[in-house]
Amino acid sequence: MCPDDDADGGYAGRWFVAALAGSGSDKLRVCEACFEERVAATGFAGHFRPQQTQHTQQGDDSSPPGCHLRFAFVARALAHTDEHDSGWSAFAAAAARRLGQPTCAGSSTAVAATSRGWRRARRAEIASVTMCEACFLDLAGMTPFADEFDTALIFRATAAATTVVEPPVEQMWTCHAARPPLAVVLGVALSRQDFGVFVTGAAAIMAAPACTEAGLSGGAVTWYTLAGRRCHNFEVCAGCYAGLLEPFGVAGFLQAVSFSGDEAAVARLCDFHPSAPYFAPYVHRLQEAVDVGVWARFSEFVRAHAALAGAPACPRSTPTPDLIWYGYQDCGICPRCYAEVCADTMLAASMPVQGARVTGATMCSMYSPRMRSLYAAACERGSADELVEFAHHRALVHANTLLRADAMRQIQALKMRQAANQGVVSSIYSGGQSFALAAGVTSDYAYGSSTLGWHPTQSGAMAAQAFQNMNAGFAEANSPHVAMEIAQLEAQWLEVE
Ligand SMILES: [Zn+2]
Ligand SMILES: [Zn+2]
Ligand SMILES: [Zn+2]
Ligand SMILES: [Zn+2]
Repeated sequence: MCPDDDADGGYAGRWFVAALAGSGSDKLRVCEACFEERVAATGFAGHFRPQQTQHTQQGDDSSPPGCHLRFAFVARALAHTDEHDSGWSAFAAAAARRLGQPTCAGSSTAVAATSRGWRRARRAEIASVTMCEACFLDLAGMTPFADEFDTALIFRATAAATTVVEPPVEQMWTCHAARPPLAVVLGVALSRQDFGVFVTGAAAIMAAPACTEAGLSGGAVTWYTLAGRRCHNFEVCAGCYAGLLEPFGVAGFLQAVSFSGDEAAVARLCDFHPSAPYFAPYVHRLQEAVDVGVWARFSEFVRAHAALAGAPACPRSTPTPDLIWYGYQDCGICPRCYAEVCADTMLAASMPVQGARVTGATMCSMYSPRMRSLYAAACERGSADELVEFAHHRALVHANTLLRADAMRQIQALKMRQAANQGVVSSIYSGGQSFALAAGVTSDYAYGSSTLGWHPTQSGAMAAQAFQNMNAGFAEANSPHVAMEIAQLEAQWLEVE
């Protein structure tokens, strides 16, 4: 496995390095995996030797850390120049050119325009597209599109030196190619050998408000969501739509939405912004859906995850009323477990309950490892019959064990409260007796019994009775027999949970 840019530890393999003539002390560094797979069979293998030290960054080495074949431009140069005899010097020059570029500062960080090289699209429709030299090389360098981009800097040569006269030193620029949609649409255009795809996509991306981590707000903003049944909590901004969705021919599966009033006032984070919670899995699923040509791979996954926004935690084995459920009779699956386990699986579409609100108290049947593995087995068989049958059995055991243990615990708590009440009653009555005694209201008779003792007032006897009740109640509520039975019931439940 190529460690990419993992320069600090983590990578235990060997590095292979080659000196790049004419580029100072720069060395081209390639990981062992990339060397074996991509370099060893070429005529360039002899230029490399294993790096002696395990450290990737040597004191005299100013080249970027990690494996340099991760740079698309270096990899492309390797593939393009291999055949020729004089290839090495051309390749070395190309590699040195890429390694000498400052790292792209990203799409949200403006940097001094004079800090690096820039490229600007030549076509008038997309003349505002500007990218840093590093991104230009990786995305378009040595491709048929390379000439579509012109240097954005104007140089003036004087006797002393060559200086950049435009842009002015104080100008700050950002790299547009660091926006995922722009880079992706350029890749799509390349794979179709059709620069028009990029012109159309890039023009739409540049016209759309920039997709930022802070989100977009306002009634004028157009969003895109899944077509059909309204999918709340899934919105893609117009720029990401133009770059990440439209080029793949899936526009028909999406529909535009806009918001008004209070809904428009809140800033909404685009679900395809890299900081969005499901950015990586959404991109992954989108790619998969496009590759296999099954849109449901993406849409079902999105629907399940979008339903999680604001969804309550899994109720597990506690029957809870008024929640949203998926699944089968006696086999309720909460939205979180559905998204984690069931979304986009073989059986998902055939579940009779699909995101329905159930008023009756229902427990979740898909949080435990046992049920999750039974579900996986059911998907392999293509039938939920055995799963549902077991879930039914499990629900019965649940009622006979956990619910009974809960009831016993509640009764104990009730007894505890009753016993405590008797304590309160006792103190009221003994208060009554003290009051009566203080007022001199006594009778000649004594009240009570042989077990309660004899008291000068009725209140005194009742206080004694209540006190006894309290003690008996506490003793019963704390009975070890009840605690043992509860423990046994819970153990029985664990056998099917
Ligand atoms: Zn590598
Ligand atoms: Zn860049
Ligand atoms: Zn976006
Ligand atoms: Zn659950």
